[in-house]
Amino acid sequence: MEEKESPVRGSCIFCRIVKGEIPSTIIFEDDILVSFLDIAPAISGHSLIVTKQHFETIAETPDEVIQHIALFAKKLTKAMSFALAAEGFNLLMNNKKVAGQLVPHAHVHVIPRYARDGIDLNWRPRKTLPNMLKECAEKIKRFL
Ligand code: AMP
Ligand code: ZN
Repeated sequence: MEEKESPVRGSCIFCRIVKGEIPSTIIFEDDILVSFLDIAPAISGHSLIVTKQHFETIAETPDEVIQHIALFAKKLTKAMSFALAAEGFNLLMNNKKVAGQLVPHAHVHVIPRYARDGIDLNWRPRKTLPNMLKECAEKIKRFL
Protein backbone atom coordinates (compact mmCIF):
# COMPACT_ATOMS: atom_id res chain seq x y z
CA MET A 1 0.00 0.00 0.00
CA GLU A 2 1.31 3.46 -0.92
CA GLU A 3 2.74 5.43 2.01
CA LYS A 4 1.09 8.81 2.40
CA GLU A 5 2.77 11.56 4.39
CA SER A 6 0.38 13.27 6.72
CA PRO A 7 1.12 16.35 8.83
CA VAL A 8 0.20 14.40 11.99
CA ARG A 9 2.28 11.33 11.11
CA GLY A 10 5.47 12.49 12.79
CA SER A 11 3.83 13.04 16.15
CA CYS A 12 1.17 10.33 15.96
CA ILE A 13 1.80 7.87 18.78
CA PHE A 14 0.41 4.88 16.87
CA CYS A 15 2.46 5.74 13.77
CA ARG A 16 5.49 5.79 16.04
CA ILE A 17 4.55 2.36 17.42
CA VAL A 18 4.06 1.05 13.85
CA LYS A 19 7.55 2.32 12.95
CA GLY A 20 9.03 0.79 16.10
CA GLU A 21 10.10 4.19 17.40
CA ILE A 22 8.42 3.63 20.74
CA PRO A 23 7.98 0.30 22.51
CA SER A 24 4.75 -1.68 22.55
CA THR A 25 3.72 -5.22 23.40
CA ILE A 26 2.98 -6.50 19.91
CA ILE A 27 0.92 -9.67 19.59
CA PHE A 28 0.57 -9.73 15.78
CA GLU A 29 1.78 -7.80 12.78
CA ASP A 30 1.38 -8.05 9.01
CA ASP A 31 1.53 -5.64 6.04
CA ILE A 32 -1.76 -3.96 6.91
CA LEU A 33 -2.14 -3.94 10.70
CA VAL A 34 -0.37 -4.15 14.01
CA SER A 35 -2.03 -5.49 17.14
CA PHE A 36 -0.61 -4.75 20.58
CA LEU A 37 -1.74 -4.66 24.20
CA ASP A 38 -3.36 -1.46 25.44
CA ILE A 39 -1.01 0.29 27.86
CA ALA A 40 -3.91 1.18 30.17
CA PRO A 41 -6.17 -1.85 29.79
CA ALA A 42 -9.78 -2.17 30.89
CA ILE A 43 -8.73 -5.73 31.79
CA SER A 44 -5.75 -8.00 31.13
CA GLY A 45 -5.58 -8.86 27.42
CA HIS A 46 -7.28 -5.64 26.24
CA SER A 47 -5.77 -5.27 22.78
CA LEU A 48 -5.72 -2.70 20.04
CA ILE A 49 -5.76 -3.37 16.31
CA VAL A 50 -4.14 -0.46 14.51
CA THR A 51 -3.85 0.27 10.79
CA LYS A 52 -0.24 0.44 9.62
CA GLN A 53 -0.96 3.43 7.45
CA HIS A 54 -2.21 6.56 9.15
CA PHE A 55 -5.97 7.03 8.81
CA GLU A 56 -7.85 9.06 11.37
CA THR A 57 -11.17 7.21 11.56
CA ILE A 58 -13.18 4.45 9.91
CA ALA A 59 -14.39 6.98 7.32
CA GLU A 60 -10.92 7.42 5.79
CA THR A 61 -9.87 3.78 6.12
CA PRO A 62 -10.09 1.84 2.83
CA ASP A 63 -12.69 -0.95 2.69
CA GLU A 64 -10.11 -3.70 2.21
CA VAL A 65 -8.26 -2.54 5.33
CA ILE A 66 -11.50 -2.58 7.33
CA GLN A 67 -12.22 -6.09 6.07
CA HIS A 68 -8.77 -7.25 7.07
CA ILE A 69 -9.11 -5.73 10.54
CA ALA A 70 -12.53 -7.31 11.05
CA LEU A 71 -11.21 -10.74 10.11
CA PHE A 72 -8.23 -10.34 12.39
CA ALA A 73 -10.51 -9.19 15.24
CA LYS A 74 -12.45 -12.43 14.86
CA LYS A 75 -9.22 -14.44 14.97
CA LEU A 76 -8.07 -12.50 18.04
CA THR A 77 -11.27 -13.22 19.96
CA LYS A 78 -10.77 -16.92 19.26
CA ALA A 79 -7.19 -16.70 20.54
CA MET A 80 -8.41 -14.87 23.65
CA SER A 81 -10.95 -17.62 24.30
CA PHE A 82 -8.21 -20.23 24.34
CA ALA A 83 -5.36 -18.21 25.86
CA LEU A 84 -7.26 -16.15 28.45
CA ALA A 85 -10.46 -18.18 28.89
CA ALA A 86 -12.42 -15.12 27.78
CA GLU A 87 -16.16 -15.75 27.94
CA GLY A 88 -17.17 -12.80 25.78
CA PHE A 89 -15.76 -9.75 24.03
CA ASN A 90 -16.37 -6.12 23.28
CA LEU A 91 -15.14 -4.80 19.94
CA LEU A 92 -15.05 -1.06 20.12
CA MET A 93 -13.94 1.71 17.77
CA ASN A 94 -14.08 5.31 18.90
CA ASN A 95 -14.29 7.69 15.96
CA LYS A 96 -13.54 11.39 16.59
CA LYS A 97 -12.94 13.17 19.88
CA VAL A 98 -16.65 13.61 20.48
CA ALA A 99 -16.96 9.80 20.58
CA GLY A 100 -14.05 9.36 22.97
CA GLN A 101 -11.23 8.91 20.44
CA LEU A 102 -8.09 9.98 22.26
CA VAL A 103 -5.59 8.78 19.64
CA PRO A 104 -6.57 10.10 16.19
CA HIS A 105 -5.24 7.04 14.33
CA ALA A 106 -7.83 4.41 13.40
CA HIS A 107 -7.89 1.48 15.83
CA VAL A 108 -10.22 -1.15 17.21
CA HIS A 109 -10.28 -2.20 20.86
CA VAL A 110 -10.76 -5.91 21.57
CA ILE A 111 -11.67 -6.40 25.22
CA PRO A 112 -12.03 -9.87 26.73
CA ARG A 113 -14.99 -10.16 29.09
CA TYR A 114 -15.82 -12.33 32.08
CA ALA A 115 -18.75 -12.62 34.44
CA ARG A 116 -18.57 -9.92 37.12
CA ASP A 117 -15.42 -8.34 35.62
CA GLY A 118 -16.62 -4.90 36.68
CA ILE A 119 -15.99 -3.26 33.29
CA ASP A 120 -18.49 -0.53 32.59
CA LEU A 121 -19.17 0.33 28.95
CA ASN A 122 -22.78 1.14 29.56
CA TRP A 123 -24.75 4.16 28.47
CA ARG A 124 -28.01 5.26 30.00
CA PRO A 125 -30.87 4.12 27.75
CA ARG A 126 -33.22 6.88 26.65
CA LYS A 127 -36.94 6.65 26.16
CA THR A 128 -38.16 6.71 22.57
CA LEU A 129 -41.37 6.14 20.64
CA PRO A 130 -42.14 4.00 17.58
CA ASN A 131 -42.67 7.08 15.37
CA MET A 132 -39.34 8.57 16.48
CA LEU A 133 -37.58 5.29 15.63
CA LYS A 134 -39.31 5.21 12.23
CA GLU A 135 -38.44 8.84 11.44
CA CYS A 136 -34.80 8.31 12.39
CA ALA A 137 -34.56 5.08 10.37
CA GLU A 138 -36.00 6.85 7.31
CA LYS A 139 -33.38 9.62 7.56
CA ILE A 140 -30.52 7.13 7.72
CA LYS A 141 -31.91 4.81 5.05
CA ARG A 142 -31.85 7.60 2.47
CA PHE A 143 -28.03 7.53 2.58
CA LEU A 144 -27.51 3.77 2.56
P1 AMP B 1 -9.20 5.74 22.09
O1 AMP B 1 -9.85 6.48 23.21
O2 AMP B 1 -10.14 4.79 21.40
O3 AMP B 1 -8.46 6.65 21.14
O4 AMP B 1 -8.15 4.78 22.80
C1 AMP B 1 -6.78 4.96 22.76
C2 AMP B 1 -6.20 3.83 23.57
O5 AMP B 1 -4.80 3.80 23.30
C3 AMP B 1 -6.37 3.97 25.09
O6 AMP B 1 -7.06 2.84 25.59
C4 AMP B 1 -4.93 4.04 25.59
O7 AMP B 1 -4.74 3.37 26.82
C5 AMP B 1 -4.15 3.40 24.46
N1 AMP B 1 -2.77 3.84 24.33
C6 AMP B 1 -2.30 5.10 24.30
N2 AMP B 1 -0.96 5.10 24.17
C7 AMP B 1 -0.57 3.81 24.09
C8 AMP B 1 0.69 3.16 23.96
N3 AMP B 1 1.82 3.86 23.86
N4 AMP B 1 0.71 1.81 23.93
C9 AMP B 1 -0.43 1.11 24.03
N5 AMP B 1 -1.65 1.66 24.16
C10 AMP B 1 -1.72 2.99 24.20
ZN1 ZN C 1 -0.86 7.67 12.97
